[in-house]
Amino acid sequence: MTASAPITQDVMTFPRKLPDGPTNLVGLTRDQLREALLGAGTPEKQIKMRAGQIWQWLYQKGVRDFDAMTNLSKDYRALLAENFVIALPEVVTRDVSEDGTRKYLVRIAGGHEVEVVYIPETDRGTLCISSQVGCTLTCSFCHTGTQKLVRNLTAGEIIGQVMLARDDLGEWPEPGRQPNEEGRLLSNVVLMGMGEPLYNFENVRDAMKIAMDPEGISLSRRRITLSTSGVVPEIARTAEEIGCLLAVSFHATTDEVRDKLVPINKKWNIAELLDVLRTYPKVSNSERITFEYVMLKGVNDSDEDAHRLMKLIKGIPAKINLIPFNEWPGAPYQRSDWKRIKAFADIVHRAGYASPIRKPRGEDIMAACGQLKSATERARKSRKQIEADAGLGE
Ligand code: SAH
Ligand code: SF4
Repeated sequence: MTASAPITQDVMTFPRKLPDGPTNLVGLTRDQLREALLGAGTPEKQIKMRAGQIWQWLYQKGVRDFDAMTNLSKDYRALLAENFVIALPEVVTRDVSEDGTRKYLVRIAGGHEVEVVYIPETDRGTLCISSQVGCTLTCSFCHTGTQKLVRNLTAGEIIGQVMLARDDLGEWPEPGRQPNEEGRLLSNVVLMGMGEPLYNFENVRDAMKIAMDPEGISLSRRRITLSTSGVVPEIARTAEEIGCLLAVSFHATTDEVRDKLVPINKKWNIAELLDVLRTYPKVSNSERITFEYVMLKGVNDSDEDAHRLMKLIKGIPAKINLIPFNEWPGAPYQRSDWKRIKAFADIVHRAGYASPIRKPRGEDIMAACGQLKSATERARKSRKQIEADAGLGE
């Protein structure tokens, strides 16, 4: 797909139940879980209790074996084992960077692969999860955007990424301990891996509801950030139906440049995007919108850009996250010089906005933002093709 082609949502959805196979309990909403248990023969008057017990085993204790669910009778456990599975994506490789960043390549049904990245910091541990295999969008600076293969992840595959990271971190509570203690290793989730989460809205929502459920993983909604390239019609739904924080991949201050960097801008331009952000429910000084801004040398990093950006976002409670471009082989851009990034940040800061510069993490294992691309799809387009897609050859 070239940058001038229409944006389409060319994705397949994967059935929750494989033909003739048992249903995976991971990723079902509470209602769907009850329905599934009823369908397998659980008596109606027990359904609430049984669903609650199983939910806790799955999401509070991290149990994967029906036999370990000791408050259920032996017969009932056998019935569960006949009808259901508890399945997570399979970890194919696990790389650990010199800086402690962990990257997991995980395989999902159909043999597709997605990447998940864990970033430890002193005050938090952030898991960057994927919502799609590849991405239908073609942002010209993003490695994922060059991947052709795309399918939506199921809710189970999305929450499964959080669960497998907790497995690896050894973070399921010991029996008798409460899950919601301070000092968690995995304390934050960002939907900033592969894919456009708002093109897979329902599955992302269902998975994040499971992550926030107080009788399970119980992450606060304010510790989950969804990043979108700007799917305008779905933005308000994010606040209403998920309630998490929002980040927007802004990256440019004129439509001309944004059309090239983030081609979805041709469908919903800067003015339309800002309009919907101005009315984003729940935005306040404590729940600001994050504007992500990738620093590309000579493309979007001038002082004029910084001033224009300040004018555009005036009135929106915001913080500006400056992302030094993470280069990948064949990329048609270069990272802005450090001095330029600092000068840009200073202008933003003087205008009264927080302007953190995102520290590149896990670069030695290609785990940085926008570098994610599955190993099977690593074969990349030619440089010429990438430049043509970026509109640089025109
Ligand atoms: N599709 C969503 C979320 C995934 S990308 C979105 O676009 O917002 C997460 C962030 O990484 C986005 O802000 C994206 O623009 C940025 N990004 C992509 N490629 C990058 C690269 N090579 N260097 C730095 N940031 C990049
Ligand atoms: Fe897709 Fe986001 Fe990459 Fe754009 S930046 S191609 S929307 S993953």
